[in-house]
Amino acid sequence: MNRVTTYGILIACFYLAIISTSYAQSLSSRLFNQTSGLTNLDPDHLIETRSGAIIATTQGASFVFDGHSFLPLGAEQGLPDSTAVNDITLGPDARTIIASQENRLLVAQDPSPFSLVRLHFRTIALPVNGRYVQTSALSAFGNGVAVSTGHDLLYLSLDVPAEPKFIVPPPQITRANRSLRTPLDVYGNGPDLWVSDHDGRICVFGATRDHCWAAQEGLPTRRWGGFLATSGRSVIVRTGNIAAILDPQQASVRLEMIPDNVPALDGLSRFLRIDRAANGDLITQAVHGVAVRHDGVWHAITLTDGFNQLLPMAIDQAGSIWLGLLGEGVRQYVGWGAIDNLTRLGGLSNGVVWGIIRAQDGRLWIATDGGLDLLSPGKPPRPSFENRSIQSLAVGRPGILWMSVNASTLVRLDTRTGAKTEYPFPDISTVHTAPDGTAWVATGNGLYRLEDDGRTRPMPVLSSAHDTSLTDLVIDPDGTIWLTGSGMLWRKRPGEDMRPFVRQWGEPKVNTETLAHRPGGPVWVGTLDGLFRVDTTTPQPRVTKIDPDRLPDRTIAAVMVDRRNNVWVGTSSGVAILHDGQWVSADVTSGLVGNDVAQDSIYEDADGSIWIGTAQGLSHILKPDILWQLDAPHPSIQKVTVDGVPYHGEMLPYAHPRLDVWIGLLGGRRGGRTFFRYQIAGIAPRWQALSTDHLVYPALPSGQHRLLIETVDPDTRAPSDPITLVITIRLPWWRQPWAYAGYVVLLIGTGWLLLRLRTRYLMQQRARLEATVRAQTADLLDAHAALEAQSRQLVYRATHDGLTGLLNRAAVQESLTKALTGTIVPRLAVSLIDIDHFKRLNDTHGHLVGDAALVALGERFRHQLAPDETIGRYGGEEYVLLVPQSGSDGFRRVTAIIDTATASPFAIEGLTLTLSVSAGVAVAGEGDSWNSIIRRADRALYQAKRNGRARIVPADGVFAERYQPDQVDVILKG
Ligand code: GH3
Ligand code: MG
Ligand code: MG
Repeated sequence: MNRVTTYGILIACFYLAIISTSYAQSLSSRLFNQTSGLTNLDPDHLIETRSGAIIATTQGASFVFDGHSFLPLGAEQGLPDSTAVNDITLGPDARTIIASQENRLLVAQDPSPFSLVRLHFRTIALPVNGRYVQTSALSAFGNGVAVSTGHDLLYLSLDVPAEPKFIVPPPQITRANRSLRTPLDVYGNGPDLWVSDHDGRICVFGATRDHCWAAQEGLPTRRWGGFLATSGRSVIVRTGNIAAILDPQQASVRLEMIPDNVPALDGLSRFLRIDRAANGDLITQAVHGVAVRHDGVWHAITLTDGFNQLLPMAIDQAGSIWLGLLGEGVRQYVGWGAIDNLTRLGGLSNGVVWGIIRAQDGRLWIATDGGLDLLSPGKPPRPSFENRSIQSLAVGRPGILWMSVNASTLVRLDTRTGAKTEYPFPDISTVHTAPDGTAWVATGNGLYRLEDDGRTRPMPVLSSAHDTSLTDLVIDPDGTIWLTGSGMLWRKRPGEDMRPFVRQWGEPKVNTETLAHRPGGPVWVGTLDGLFRVDTTTPQPRVTKIDPDRLPDRTIAAVMVDRRNNVWVGTSSGVAILHDGQWVSADVTSGLVGNDVAQDSIYEDADGSIWIGTAQGLSHILKPDILWQLDAPHPSIQKVTVDGVPYHGEMLPYAHPRLDVWIGLLGGRRGGRTFFRYQIAGIAPRWQALSTDHLVYPALPSGQHRLLIETVDPDTRAPSDPITLVITIRLPWWRQPWAYAGYVVLLIGTGWLLLRLRTRYLMQQRARLEATVRAQTADLLDAHAALEAQSRQLVYRATHDGLTGLLNRAAVQESLTKALTGTIVPRLAVSLIDIDHFKRLNDTHGHLVGDAALVALGERFRHQLAPDETIGRYGGEEYVLLVPQSGSDGFRRVTAIIDTATASPFAIEGLTLTLSVSAGVAVAGEGDSWNSIIRRADRALYQAKRNGRARIVPADGVFAERYQPDQVDVILKG
């Protein structure tokens, strides 16, 4: 059966539908449609993930709710096309999300905290075995998922959550495949596997035993779906308008009618759901809303205005009911089980509620802008005073109700008889009754008092206050009356006049509008510009203004202190409650019917529940505690782009890109005043508040950044756990690790180079120094050598004759003295040799020729000498010759030397000169000295001269003369 036919039947059955017989109820709701991102308005499935995200699948696409709107799931999440999802479920422990689509499964791990960026589905193809296979129902079973294909059951193992795979199924599935040919819905409950089939049967395959129910067992032959475990091993399952409770241990069937449902819903068995609310109630879809099973009894709750072909349903962790409405979108109903709402739709005379009061008989009266409504449980409101604005209510004696009508008439109504007395008043603000039944009326012209006898005319209380414009009053049990008006807080004690109690508020102009007081506590005064607390226990009243940031709005419409001393403050933007020193807020997002609280219309009922009148209707907070028990919501990252390109955590190239992050708000109290804040470790290290759900960081530097995002509870200012996004941008090449390695190498290289250069410089320095030292040493050596040479020359000069180069007389004397010493009888012949007629030579040829002759003769002597023989120049033209021989040997040796030297002529300056010499020879004897021996030799020389020259004469007369006298002449040749 296709959907269109199904809806046709549904519409046809509409007039047959079982209309809700329970009390009408209106939950605060939000509709999500195209403007909220739902581009397809045919929702099939709604499911909340463990991490708090709502996933909606439609005929065309799938979406996830981020707290503000629905975002499409697409290729980035691994959903490549827009084919409809057949079923979606959570895996074991709700850690995975499994969707079925055509012949494949899509499996994703639920990211926690939820982030669209980290949601990714893997596609697992069904094992086809050569036949056409289409997935239908899914259910977690064991460590995996049981999958119905319409022909058989398959089993996807999630033993390794990241690696889902089809494996040989557990025995329960194997047995089911043997027993059932056309499985429809499937449900795992512990070891039990429940399966319904197209033939109307339901079977359970347990750990050991199986059981089936069919017509014979009392189970109507219908298409069953929406299994839910109840108690023990029992489950509840439904068709269009019947619920069956099956217990495998007793093989029993218990059938219940589901109100506001039609048999035609059978055909939608795979969309049918039964969920359990937080209070244990079971909730399932109904034609006009939901059907609720409370204490074993089903009620229908009308939520929608008219007939809606509603299909999917989910209950989230915060207690909201989500319904998919065909062609309309998805609607979230807030405050289920905690806040009931009543509007004009539910039968209120008018949407604007001015007052609520419960009479002694237990009846609840509602003052609306269009009449007085009597509210009885389970019944629609009963109107009276239609089309009149009832603005204030008070109960007097039993059965008596006081009210202000159209602000101009005070009415005393006897609710038992309907009798009423009317008192015209110009400008009534409010009416209250004292414990004694007296009515007190605050008006624009002062305070009035009425005895409750039905006869007395209203009496102005205080002439001095006659011109006072009063706005509100409360009466303590002891009869003390507190009033607001004319910018003051007034007090009237019993028997006393009404007197100003607080005139000064610490602000220039204060319009006191409303007040609340519980004996023992402060008086709370609401004004057009904030809330004041007036402590009355001190001698002088102490006034404190409440921080306006704690309140949703500055204009205070209503204040009420409940019996647990919670202070309820109504504004045009919702309610603030001071609980346990902490302000919390409530508005439509918490489930209130409206945000605009009406004047003086917060009322605590006998059971502690709170009624709030708003411009949109009446809210009944059944469990006020839920308002401060709800967790603050937490953020989720829905989308991240870097320079406009979707980012999934990959390493980005080096740049300073723009970062965009879209943040979602999931779970808990999703108040309108919740805000986000973020920081980026290292770059933006302080928390930055965000006014929207879109974070923009214009230029992200390179490196790895941790972006932290939190929500901040508007009331407690407490932050949620942060959600983290890590963004990695590649470092520029000069900041890469290898670049740093390069810097180190460069540094070492430079150091090495510098060291080398320095070493080289030092070595050059040393070489230079060495060269200098060498040069200086050489100079020193040269100087030394020169000195030595000089000294040698000096010695030479001291011992040698400058002309002939022969030893001089001193040197010969030293040599002779040395030869004489140490010897007793010396062997020595000493000869003095004198050139003959040398004067003549000088005179004839000049002294230079004489010099040359002296030199030449000396040379001839020296050339003949043995090493132990000595020749020297005695002076002038005289030589001295020492020959170390004694006696005649010495004489002969002297004679031989002289003969040889003078044997041939000398060639001097072109002259041929023949020289002759005379010589005396003395032979050294014992005791001889230089002087004695020279004296003898000289005498012998003298003898030689006397004897005719050119001869050698021995000193001691023993040797014959040998030179002839004619040889003496000098022969001159041309
Ligand atoms: P006799 O045969 O008696 O020795 O005669 P003589 O001329 O050799 O002796 P005399 O003592 O009269 O003269 C020596 C001369 O020798 C005088 C002097 O001018 C010369 N005479 C001395 N020393 C040198 C010298 O060094 N060079 C030269 N050319 N003449 C010298
Ligand atoms: Mg002489
Ligand atoms: Mg001479």
